[in-house]
Amino acid sequence: MHTAFTPNVKTSDIVVIGGGAAGMMAALFAAQEGARVTLLEKNEKLGKKIYITGKGRCNVTNQCDVDTFLQNVPRNPRFLYSALRLMNPDDLLSLLESYGCETKVERGRRAFPVSDKASDVTRALEKALRQMNVQVLLNTEVKGLVQDENGICAVETNKGSMPCKAVIVCTGGVSYPSTGSTGDGYLFAEKMGLKVTDRKPSLVGILTKETWPMQLQGLTLKNVCLTGTCCGKIIYSELGEMLFTHFGVSGPLVIELSSHLPDKGETVFFLDLKPGLTMEQLDQRLQREIKAAGKKQVSSILQTLLPQRMAVVFADICKIDSTRVCSQLTGKERTLMVQLLKKLPLTVKGTRPIAEAIVTRGGMDVKEIAPGTMAAKKMPNLFFAGEVMDVDAHTGGYNLQIAFSTGALAGKSAAKLIKDRNE
Ligand SMILES: Cc1cc2nc3c(=O)[nH]c(=O)nc-3n(C[C@H](O)[C@H](O)[C@H](O)COP(=O)(O)OP(=O)(O)OC[C@H]3O[C@@H](n4cnc5c(N)ncnc54)[C@H](O)[C@@H]3O)c2cc1C
Repeated sequence: MHTAFTPNVKTSDIVVIGGGAAGMMAALFAAQEGARVTLLEKNEKLGKKIYITGKGRCNVTNQCDVDTFLQNVPRNPRFLYSALRLMNPDDLLSLLESYGCETKVERGRRAFPVSDKASDVTRALEKALRQMNVQVLLNTEVKGLVQDENGICAVETNKGSMPCKAVIVCTGGVSYPSTGSTGDGYLFAEKMGLKVTDRKPSLVGILTKETWPMQLQGLTLKNVCLTGTCCGKIIYSELGEMLFTHFGVSGPLVIELSSHLPDKGETVFFLDLKPGLTMEQLDQRLQREIKAAGKKQVSSILQTLLPQRMAVVFADICKIDSTRVCSQLTGKERTLMVQLLKKLPLTVKGTRPIAEAIVTRGGMDVKEIAPGTMAAKKMPNLFFAGEVMDVDAHTGGYNLQIAFSTGALAGKSAAKLIKDRNE
């Protein structure tokens, strides 16, 4: 026997589990179609993860066309066509603006609230939910789904059982669990006999086999080129910024590279510390510097090419004593320096844990979900949206847009299902 909610809680047609980006949008779109909707969130407030996105500024989307968008989704991009057709980046920005969150587009087509405050995104969505009469129940944790011969018929929560005609699971992944995403949706799916793929971290710092990066902890390199390779193939190559840490490497280039890491095979990446110069140009420059340096130490010429802290470490990597006199450097040693300045290898040992990842790779198997509706193929009144599904993308606003677009489609489809069943 299940306890009922307190009398002031209304029953709904559709229950949305999880008040993140996907859940808020799902609830909004279902309500816009005329359905009675309840949004259940276990935290004390909505959008806890949104609050920390984009370093508190929320890179809400990437204002690009759908083809460009899908090129930034390394796994299962085609699954997202219908969702993006319903709500593309421009539609999302218009929606946010219509509820009072003005937006701006920065470098790389990244869109942010004009205020640079992530909380304004959540505030706009909360306003929309209020206007559409969505019942929002905070501090309400869903413990399980109840099934009868018609599919899902209720959800069990810490506050009682809530009957419904359809459920949308928007519980997120397992990264940054302190925001509420603790993987509950996977358990709901598995209990319903649906397949969930292995979860791995994506957009995360990388551990290296080499230990020298740890000596440079805290050092940022700007305008370097990072090229990732696996089994002789280039998997990634970008120019930008990276950071050395106590575990290996991080920073924008590395975070991005992590979403390209293949499931199998050793990944080695090469750091071009002087991408503006060819090997020949760099060699000529080094020859000039050595000539001019004369009796100065090797570290002094390396400091003209690299940050001071890195100069000594780099000499060690080249197995050259940095206190040696420049004029004693052999041609072979100079060539080695040039080669390593252009192609310094780093071998991937692993990644930081999933709890520290920006996004979860893997999740609810998209083969189990109809891409045109977001409903489970085996259970038509059970819908999924957002990071709980096995879709993840590069940095740049794509992950939030995926959550918003799949949420919109799930909400609209769930409302349509209820309407069709009532007729
Ligand atoms: C540090 C960081 C920065 C990021 N920056 C960006 C960025 O700038 N741009 C971008 O596009 N993406 C960014 N992302 C990724 C993006 O935030 C997520 O992909 C997106 O928020 C996923 O939305 P979601 O609604 O699917 O899941 P979540 O936002 O994780 O929402 C899930 C919600 O469900 C609730 N919930 C879970 N289980 C239950 C339950 N049993 N009962 C009730 N409620 C439950 C949780 O409390 C949570 O509120 C960032 C991620 C992190 C961690």
